[in-house]
Amino acid sequence: MSLRIPAGPRSQEILPALRQSAPRRYDYAMGRFQLVDFAAHYQKGFRNHIVAIGDVAALIESFKRYGCYATYCFFSDELLTYMSLQGGAPSVSGYEGKVWAPYLPIDLDHPELTPALAAARLLSEFLLARWRIDPASMQVYFSGAKGFHIMLDTRLFGRVAPSRSLPAIFDSLRRHLAQELPEPLRETVDLSIKDRMRLLRLANTIHEKSKLYKIILSADELRAHDADQIRELAKKPRPLARTDATGFLSHADVSENPAAAQLFQRVQRQLKRLTRKPFVYRLQRPADLGQVQFPCAGAQAIWQNHIEPGYRNNCAIRLASELRLLGLSAEETEDKLFEWNERNQIELSQDELRSVVGSAYQHRFPYRYSCRDEILRKFCPLPDERSCLRMVAASARHE
Ligand SMILES: [Zn+2]
Repeated sequence: MSLRIPAGPRSQEILPALRQSAPRRYDYAMGRFQLVDFAAHYQKGFRNHIVAIGDVAALIESFKRYGCYATYCFFSDELLTYMSLQGGAPSVSGYEGKVWAPYLPIDLDHPELTPALAAARLLSEFLLARWRIDPASMQVYFSGAKGFHIMLDTRLFGRVAPSRSLPAIFDSLRRHLAQELPEPLRETVDLSIKDRMRLLRLANTIHEKSKLYKIILSADELRAHDADQIRELAKKPRPLARTDATGFLSHADVSENPAAAQLFQRVQRQLKRLTRKPFVYRLQRPADLGQVQFPCAGAQAIWQNHIEPGYRNNCAIRLASELRLLGLSAEETEDKLFEWNERNQIELSQDELRSVVGSAYQHRFPYRYSCRDEILRKFCPLPDERSCLRMVAASARHE
């Protein structure tokens, strides 16, 4: 059922279960992206508990609907690889890989609730009347305390592919939509939720402070009820008609909306313009394995230098991952790490190096450390990660 990640990743065990739980209508978009980070107030460690979305409903029950959350971004097993490659307790922190999301959440908050309610009304009216979205494509929830969550089905935006930049696109979409609200209500839009690991309180679970449930509201209730009436409704959970129990998997067929798709594409183009660089660097398997050159300056520095104990393992896994990305086989990478170990007096044992290579190659998809990675930055001679060739390469490829 739930899956705690110990020292090694477990994606092999997860994947068959995932295939069964994939709802058909999401096949085009979800594919490999069915993992979320589930968190609960009474769960040991709170978060870093990666599960298939199909397992979340049962987890909510097992935590008695108290303070349960999940990431609204969905992940592939690349996240498990990332977690397993870290020293110490596996954590999702710092992950920058590709994500997909069934819904764009817009979080409207105000300490007095009423302004947030006014904002939720105006924004949902705008989406229904001006964008003419299908009512089945939007769910509005009272968060249980000070706000509302408007959830927009991402199928409105057309075919949304998994991408590293989806959180940035969402952030920009929220900013554009906030502009549709009058000035004093604009500040109810929470614009801080751009992190891809951000947790969202789950529907029909109890808010730790108010002891009220996060509940879904119909269009009529949103229009007619005041804050007190909504709080009254939230004393009990309410059935979800249009989604599964997590609120993330829709039962409705939703098609592309022209206004939504247009804004999405505009935002996507703007982001690409901002990150595009003139120089295109292509990763290529080195012709001569005796002359390995790393696209990342941090990795190159690690390759060329003596590394103090305490950093050796973290450096070795980064080198192994970089070598896999350069197209070397596990055996070739092992040879290169032995060479590095020898040349720079690193003094890791052959067994340790072999297990590092095993970690770097155990998943179908190689993990790529970001140039912002703490360890790579520590050894990188460049003033900041933006000057690193690999960053340039990544943005030039327009992921
Ligand atoms: Zn770099």
